[in-house]
Amino acid sequence: MLKVTDLSVNYDMIQAVKNISFEVNEGEIVTLIGANGAGKSTILRTISGLVRSGSGDMTYRGKDITKAAPQKIVEQGLIQVPEGRHVFKGLTVQENLDLGSFTRKDKENVNADLDHVFERFPILAERKKQDAATLSGGEQQMLAMGRALMSKPKLLLLDEPSMGLAPIFIKEIFRIIEDINKQGTTILLIEQNANVALQVADRGYVLETGKIVLTDTGKNLLKSDAVQKAYLGG
Ligand code: ATP
Repeated sequence: MLKVTDLSVNYDMIQAVKNISFEVNEGEIVTLIGANGAGKSTILRTISGLVRSGSGDMTYRGKDITKAAPQKIVEQGLIQVPEGRHVFKGLTVQENLDLGSFTRKDKENVNADLDHVFERFPILAERKKQDAATLSGGEQQMLAMGRALMSKPKLLLLDEPSMGLAPIFIKEIFRIIEDINKQGTTILLIEQNANVALQVADRGYVLETGKIVLTDTGKNLLKSDAVQKAYLGG
């Protein structure tokens, strides 16, 4: 579904991503794990068209998206959920969700999808008239995901959904991620929290300073000595 080949990304003098290749097949949850500064967010932003690659190719559902505009990428159902706090503050929960469906052509299905989002995240239904700025961290993460679901994603890119959340919220968010996947959305997830990410992922890639150093199934990576030592304190 998504194929990234020999991708490099530079910020001025810094090479943040170095010749990486990976793929996400339809129906999978794939995770990229790595420490601060490993290049995870840069990779997601490059796929979304928000950062330009220095070299390499990216294809999505068979089409080259290496130089595509972010708007065109979104229209094809490749949707990024930014780190939790990037909801539109000063707008209500409902208005944030409405923005998610803004580019959709099938307006007749929007209301039914809104009902699904409220079923999945009952707290958002309760708070729909509330300013998004006043939601808790976990609620803002749910809103960011709800907004993404309103744009009917085929492939969802999740940027550190566990960031800053209490363990109980992390569990809840990851349960919802698995559920969204089971209902047919493919997921690429980046995380510093290797433990939770590898538990839900079919496959994972370990990033170190812009390079992929290891790849395997989520289960095998969770057990591997290298991952245990580097990320799980074991
Ligand atoms: P974190 O988990 O801390 O968010 P990350 O793995 O997502 O880290 P990136 O944010 O992709 O890492 O950053 C990779 C490298 O690129 C870092 O060294 C960072 O300082 C650098 N970098 C990121 N964005 C920029 C930018 N806009 N300009 C210059 N350097 C940048």
